[in-house]
Amino acid sequence: MSKIDERCTSAYEELRIAELAEYEILDTPNEAAFDELVEVASIICEAPIAVINFIDRDRQWFKAIKGLPIRETPLDVSICAHAILQSGLFIIPDTTLDERFSSNPLVIGDPHLRFYAGALLENESGYPLGTLCVLDYQPRELTDKQRFALQALANQVMAHMELMLSHRYQKQLILELEATREEMARLAATDMLTGLLNRRAFEQRLHEALALVKRGAPTAALVMVDLDHFKRINDAFGHPVGDDVLKRFTTLCLAVFRETDVIARWGGEEFMLLMPNTSVEKAQQAAKRLLNKLANTSMAAEPTTPIYVTVSIGICPLNANSQLEERLRTVDGLLYQAKRQGRNGVVLENTAPEVTPKNNDS
Ligand code: GH3
Ligand code: MG
Ligand code: MG
Repeated sequence: MSKIDERCTSAYEELRIAELAEYEILDTPNEAAFDELVEVASIICEAPIAVINFIDRDRQWFKAIKGLPIRETPLDVSICAHAILQSGLFIIPDTTLDERFSSNPLVIGDPHLRFYAGALLENESGYPLGTLCVLDYQPRELTDKQRFALQALANQVMAHMELMLSHRYQKQLILELEATREEMARLAATDMLTGLLNRRAFEQRLHEALALVKRGAPTAALVMVDLDHFKRINDAFGHPVGDDVLKRFTTLCLAVFRETDVIARWGGEEFMLLMPNTSVEKAQQAAKRLLNKLANTSMAAEPTTPIYVTVSIGICPLNANSQLEERLRTVDGLLYQAKRQGRNGVVLENTAPEVTPKNNDS
């Protein structure tokens, strides 16, 4: 099949139209870069009309035009539609002498086009998208230098379009990378089982909260929660049921505490809460709400075999004098104290002054 025959197939035309669409140039406003190139083509070729046009499915559309007040024409009167069937320059010295164009309405009627020279706009994949062409009202020719310049300008039009396209691709890529980066950061901060913040992310939040408190923000409460005898649940029902209990417990915590409270899975069956702008007494009330809710809520998926869990809770304040490591040791000690007192209870720092970091052994 010859090149012209190949370009006439509908399969080829579909691919060509798809390539053209990729540039998203059709029906866009005038742009100085293209306007200047048709101006230069008109000056160099000493032609009154110069056009950058693209051959769409059923029309030719002009991105830039000098000398005629139109933006598009139907394809059946397009000379450029012929030009894109072959490589290089397409020159019709006298349209009235060429049987393909002698009855064209733009030739026999207004604006009486007699001369046509078009240089192909061929993209990097070799698809002809349109032409940069010059036209005149009288029959004529182009000099060798004009031919060279017209093709060189057409190459510049195409180079500019390729740059615009790759710029757009790059912008898309940057957006996708940014979204991926955000998703990875979210995953890196998330506990996979419960969807809560993980320990690392929570420590980060604690650092930030403590910095705010040291700069005058109100005291916060640090709360550590450990499920009592959780090993027994695994032993009795199996690890997957244990996992399910941890998830249900998470949902319950999210319902009990405020949205501004930061909840994290500290590890295993231990959870940590940061309650901003909260006294230990207020935190204790919330902790007791959790104990009450747990007493009345089965953590089992099956209503026929309910599973009730209890928790032990330690609570200490986070204020301007706090050191993070010390606070974490303290809250862990308070939790241990709650375990020793029989579990299913809450111990606050101010009600348990005997609990100090150095005799804490958990
Ligand atoms: P205590 O009241 O003293 O806290 O007793 P406990 O059984 O809860 O504590 P222990 O530290 O002896 O055991 C914790 C159990 O939690 C053992 C471990 O297998 C279980 N566990 C930790 N992480 C997970 C988890 O992701 N899924 C399940 N199903 N179990 C877990
Ligand atoms: Mg436990
Ligand atoms: Mg534990």
